[in-house]
Amino acid sequence: YKVPVPKNEPVNSYAPGTPERTSLQAKLKELRGQEVDVPMYIGAEEVRTGKTHPLSPPHDHQHKLGQFHEGDGSHVEQAIKAALAAKQEWADLHWQQRASVFLKAADLIAGPYRDKINAATMLGQSKNAYQAEIDSACELADFLRFNVQYMTEIYEEQPFSPDGVWNKMEYRPLEGFVFALTPFNFTAIAGNLPSSAALMGNTVVWKPAYSQIYSANVVMEIFKEAGVPDGVINLIYVDGPTTGDIIFKHPEFAGIHFTGSTGVFQNIWKLIGENIEKYKSYPRIVGETGGKDFILAHKTADPKQVATAITRGAFEFQGQKCSAASRVYIANNIWDDVKENLVADIKDIKMGGPEDFDNFFNAVIDKKAFDKIKGYIDDAKESNVAEVIAGGECDDSKGYFIQPTVIVTKDPQYVTMQEEIFGPVVTIYVYDAENFEETLTLVDETSPYALTGAIFSNDRYIIERATKRLSQAAGNFYVNDKPTGAVVNQNPFGGARKSGTNDKAGSKLNLLRWCSARMVKETF
Ligand code: NAD
Repeated sequence: YKVPVPKNEPVNSYAPGTPERTSLQAKLKELRGQEVDVPMYIGAEEVRTGKTHPLSPPHDHQHKLGQFHEGDGSHVEQAIKAALAAKQEWADLHWQQRASVFLKAADLIAGPYRDKINAATMLGQSKNAYQAEIDSACELADFLRFNVQYMTEIYEEQPFSPDGVWNKMEYRPLEGFVFALTPFNFTAIAGNLPSSAALMGNTVVWKPAYSQIYSANVVMEIFKEAGVPDGVINLIYVDGPTTGDIIFKHPEFAGIHFTGSTGVFQNIWKLIGENIEKYKSYPRIVGETGGKDFILAHKTADPKQVATAITRGAFEFQGQKCSAASRVYIANNIWDDVKENLVADIKDIKMGGPEDFDNFFNAVIDKKAFDKIKGYIDDAKESNVAEVIAGGECDDSKGYFIQPTVIVTKDPQYVTMQEEIFGPVVTIYVYDAENFEETLTLVDETSPYALTGAIFSNDRYIIERATKRLSQAAGNFYVNDKPTGAVVNQNPFGGARKSGTNDKAGSKLNLLRWCSARMVKETF
């Protein structure tokens, strides 16, 4: 009963002249030429309410990619009903049947749907081709394939049976339905949260962020084509508070698989707490949330390497990665060199729509994000403890464009060293190279988050010291590497403190949350 041993999906470069680039460009053109009418998917129905909202690329307000149909509370109720109705049959399937469906979905993503899912992510979320490829094609295919592997490992784990006894562990699905609430920034996360719970035999109500609906619709199309039965994953577009209000009061609510901001997750946790007596079982609460991710450069670090790590770590996908480097501590002896390289790197960054493959840098997701990020930049421009040394221009006339922006501050507690901005803004604090111990304390104590972080040094004792001292400051810690770009099965991902429940997406630990073990002892 062994399933194929997975390998990470190889990443296409989309370099000039490659057939992959030509094929992706053709798909972008095709999607740009269409207007899709995106329904909700509840049970066997495609639901069109007539209450439509336009879908536009964040980098091009003038263009309409289509529209989606928004639902209300009655659709949340219907989705819950559909999930509960589909539950028994799906849970009773042999696990290999469920595995087959999601392995097929992975092959569709890596094969015939690769261009479509990448193009949808490029247009809908303003990602460049490479960022779309590592997200929606490779990471999503990896999640689906490796989750099958983890599931089989879990099922194989059995307790000891002495003579005359047979002890068995059954890994049952949770009783009730699972709620998947997903963020805008990764198509892979949006696809993984409902499918990982479903793989373990659960049925799911999935609500994506409105700004990711265009690519979520493609993910659903792939799930359908792969054979996910009606009602197993129900995709609804209803505003968050309305959805939450119904879901979190439902007695059959079995768990939430959430990725998004810390504030929203804390509200969800409170709502669950308020309703705890209503539920049949204690719900699983899995939430991967915000970050204020750091780079710490020791006096022995290579300045060029540090500059590249800042450029890539802070500005890929416009800094809209939960793992993006957003506060940087640099020893004063290397600062001039780092600064020279960093400013030169940033000058080379081309900004514009992702359909032009030369644009490394695209738009931020929406008006709310644009205003929030601009607010922090404006504050820095007026501050007497901070200075904007690169970028700082914001222009939303054609799309939501914000230049890659570097702030240098004299105050290590300055607001942009503490709060998650979730945009292309990095703040640098230059510390006295002789005060490394104090700087470790600053890194550890300045922000409430603990998602990712990186130490740059060529001194083995310093690497060891930083790794130990910062053991609680990041769930994913990097040595001489940028703090972004976790790969499924290689770098299980998640943070603690205010960054989440740290259930490590892309590992067995996450899948374990979507089952409830039963012990069966038989005596002969
Ligand atoms: P968000 O919190 O605004 O939204 C996440 C989801 O919650 C969306 O579907 C949204 O519609 C819904 N929502 C919003 N308000 C709600 C409410 N009151 N009740 C119920 N649902 C509600 O997050 P986002 O802007 O889509 O994504 C960015 C955030 O996600 C950042 O904070 C980022 O750090 C975090 N993130 C974390 C990880 C991780 O692994 N730790 C990964 C990706 C993103």
